[in-house]
Amino acid sequence: KGRIEIRDVSVSFGGKGQRTQAVSGVSLEVKPGDFVSVIGPSGCGKSTLLNIVAGFMVPTQGAALLDGQAIDGPGADRGVVFQQYSLFPWMTVRKNVEFGLKMQGLGINARESKARTLLGLAGLLPFENHYPDQLSGGMKQRVGIVRALATSPQVLLMDEPFGALDSQTRTVMQEILTNMWQQLQLSVLFITHDIEEAIFLSEKVYVMTARPGRIKAEIPIPLPRP
Ligand code: ADP
Ligand code: ADP
Repeated sequence: KGRIEIRDVSVSFGGKGQRTQAVSGVSLEVKPGDFVSVIGPSGCGKSTLLNIVAGFMVPTQGAALLDGQAIDGPGADRGVVFQQYSLFPWMTVRKNVEFGLKMQGLGINARESKARTLLGLAGLLPFENHYPDQLSGGMKQRVGIVRALATSPQVLLMDEPFGALDSQTRTVMQEILTNMWQQLQLSVLFITHDIEEAIFLSEKVYVMTARPGRIKAEIPIPLPRP
């Protein structure tokens, strides 16, 4: 479970007269449990592809599939993390994580225990009763990842999640993410413009070019994991 397929997707924006093709004929695959990155210059269509897999956008042509089923909207089977933190500032760290579980109708005890398990994995348990404003950028983004994983999705979609962090924090976050990916056996689709980050994290890297956005290369990174 957790297979993502993008099949021959093209995306155009704008109406008559000023229609521009943002993405042209892109196909890619994330096999269950794989960590796949997409890199490329600004404007090559990375976010557009991620938004399609997240179910926030519909392609002009082609399709995105999750485990063989056409994606037709957002769902709790896909966790999403963006560069900006998007935590609820009026909720504690744990309440932020519990939010999606509450929406699923999970009882208070089950929510709390699920949230605490995941917070523990991310080293955030000492901060469960803090508010987002009391945390550093890296910690907030850690909460964002935990919140995206709260509903036990098989798939984690990340759009430049560490782009706003300093390089030292970024390294720490990459290690935490690798650890969570391994423990939870997630399929990850990860967007970055940092080739070093892509190589460190991924088992496969797709390289895109812009105007229109296309896949230029598909690079396997067959290094064994520690
Ligand atoms: P990336 O994430 O690689 O920077 P995006 O997917 O954000 O690229 O954008 C791809 C192209 O599509 C860019 O040229 C961008 O300007 C254009 N684009 C993205 N979203 C919209 C939109 N809502 N309306 C018009 N053009 C858009
Ligand atoms: P940055 O401040 O560069 O974003 P991190 O998010 O990685 O760095 O935080 C570095 C460390 O500082 C954390 O692992 C944690 O131990 C500590 N820390 C961060 N925020 C707080 C806080 N609000 N209270 C106590 N310790 C914190």
